[in-house]
Amino acid sequence: METFANGAIAAAYFIIPLTLLPLLLTAKRAIWLNLLLLVAFVFSCGVGHIFSAMHRHSTPWHWITAGVSWAAVIVLLRSRNRLRYLGETFHLLEATWEQALTGKLLCERSGNDLKMIKLNPAAKLITKDLLKPGDRLCEKMPVHRQEVYPYDMPLIDLYLEVLESGEARQLEYQYKGDEISGWYMTLVTPLSSELLYMTFTEVSGVIHDPLTGLYNRRVLEMDLGPWEVCLFIDLDRFKLINDQRGHILGDRLLVAVATVLQDHVQTYNGIAVRNGGDEFLLLLPASDSVELCPTPATIAATVLKGILAIEIEGANVGASIGVASGTIDAFEEDTPINRLLQAAETALREAKRNRRSNLPQHRIQVWNSDLARLRLRQITLEAYLAQRSSETEFSLVYQPICNMQTGAIVGAEALIRWNSARLGRVSPSEFIPVAETTGLVHRISDWVLCNALEQLAQWQDIAPQFTLSINISPLELEDDDFLDRIMQRVSGAGIDSNHFGIEITERGIYRNLDRYLQSLQSLRDMSLRLKVDDFGTGQSGLAQLLQFRFDEVKVDRYFIPTNAQDLEKVAICRAIANLSEGINFTLVAEGIEHNDQRVLMLGLKYQYGQGYLFSQPMTPQKLTTLLEKGICLSPQ
Ligand code: C2E
Ligand code: MG
Ligand code: MG
Repeated sequence: METFANGAIAAAYFIIPLTLLPLLLTAKRAIWLNLLLLVAFVFSCGVGHIFSAMHRHSTPWHWITAGVSWAAVIVLLRSRNRLRYLGETFHLLEATWEQALTGKLLCERSGNDLKMIKLNPAAKLITKDLLKPGDRLCEKMPVHRQEVYPYDMPLIDLYLEVLESGEARQLEYQYKGDEISGWYMTLVTPLSSELLYMTFTEVSGVIHDPLTGLYNRRVLEMDLGPWEVCLFIDLDRFKLINDQRGHILGDRLLVAVATVLQDHVQTYNGIAVRNGGDEFLLLLPASDSVELCPTPATIAATVLKGILAIEIEGANVGASIGVASGTIDAFEEDTPINRLLQAAETALREAKRNRRSNLPQHRIQVWNSDLARLRLRQITLEAYLAQRSSETEFSLVYQPICNMQTGAIVGAEALIRWNSARLGRVSPSEFIPVAETTGLVHRISDWVLCNALEQLAQWQDIAPQFTLSINISPLELEDDDFLDRIMQRVSGAGIDSNHFGIEITERGIYRNLDRYLQSLQSLRDMSLRLKVDDFGTGQSGLAQLLQFRFDEVKVDRYFIPTNAQDLEKVAICRAIANLSEGINFTLVAEGIEHNDQRVLMLGLKYQYGQGYLFSQPMTPQKLTTLLEKGICLSPQ
């Protein structure tokens, strides 16, 4: 029995070193010797045990030793894989430290400075070998004690702050040293109250747009200026070219535009920025540092000329340019560079609104006091609209849509009115665009939706075939919440949804039709009547109208001829009418003001019309009376 116990103990002593072997194979060199000694020790214990067992008698103590050593064997065998992974992890960690492209360093607090403990090769490279283990950071790189953009405090203070807070932090800053300068990103991780681990990399390359090689928007956060002149350039109908001729050609056009801008950058010593998509900025310094100093508007005209001259595989681009220069008084709350940008952007929006030809006077808008006033008005509108109480100042009026032959009211369009306590009556043409840019339009649309549905429920009791439509902003089609809400509200309103219409202005819809098609389909699935509003104003052409089958097309009043001599408009209206027969959508002529127009449009096969000839927009009470009495708005 004793011999058996002794044998078991001895066997365990020999198996333990075997289970430690995998660790030995993968362990780092520094602990390799320790491990080898441990293995040798256990092994020699086994040999020792055999010898002593030959001379001594077995005791219960031998049984306990046998049990413990076999427990060790089992534990080691079970954790063999884990031991191997531990060894391999050491190797991997070592490799990531040595081979990483980002700089890594370990340092400890030393008074108000940091002392280097260990740096990886990338850290040595990025810091141009200025730092070695044992060095103090600020002694070797004193710029760490100066304020750093954009934090307004020295980097060293930021690092020490991280140590004190105990929370890791990501910093992005502009480092301007004698030997090293650029934009860097550093991840600072406190390992204890004294030890700091940092990973850092240069991110200056990130401020360039890979396609055009121009700067991207991030450059605006750097204080490269001061800039005195800003040209905000937007390519016209670029999306259309991209969609119709493909992205490769689109990209080539963008690169060509960038080349035009680069030429100006060199002449005037400024920078060119791709602001995103088809928007570009040209920022130029104060005129005294410019040798030849043409006015900003003249520079814009040469930029425009350069862009208009581009032709690739028969494709051209146009551009609108907003120009701002000098000190901008508006947008007081902003930094000077942002004021300049905002002024140029506001001017650009105005230029886009006005574009009538490729002539500079129609494409270039210089920031002026009128625009400043306009912008101020928009800011005021924004502020008042944002107040919850503005909803109590809204109301809906309804403009009948009539059968032009008989004058019978077949439906109506709900139009919002805002009678502000402080601003008086504000036209929707003025406040809806403002609400669109601020996102307030979602709230307004919901208000319109609820009220119009309630009204339609009443009118459907009086005139079951009556159709009511509301206007929505194309932005709503990007908002899944809106689609959910509309579904909820329509199904809760107890109306026949075939007689509820949604008008979407053509200007917005084709800007992003691909994106909107799905939302339009959802609206169609709810059996709503889909209408293109202001058709003709969006420059999209008839071909695009075919991409989605709308139920109704409302031709903008601009295209309604005043008389038969207005040949161009007559031809356009006839073409739309022919198309409507082919693909079967209802046509409505907007803005019918005179009987001549009504007769003319009837002759062109337009059955329905809307306009002052029939009626101005009216209160719901008045329309209720008309519907109850079945009155026709006879044009004669
Ligand atoms: P719209 O949808 O094209 O509406 C027709 C506009 O033309 C209305 O102007 C109407 O009063 C006006 N109008 C109608 N008949 C005639 C006419 O014979 N001659 C002339 N010169 N004008 C006529 P309103 O109410 O000022 O609305 C302007 C625009 O504001 C609307 O154009 C629509 O795009 C937008 N809008 C109005 N209400 C809403 C709304 O509730 N939501 C949204 N998103 N937009 C709305
Ligand atoms: Mg409308
Ligand atoms: Mg319209």
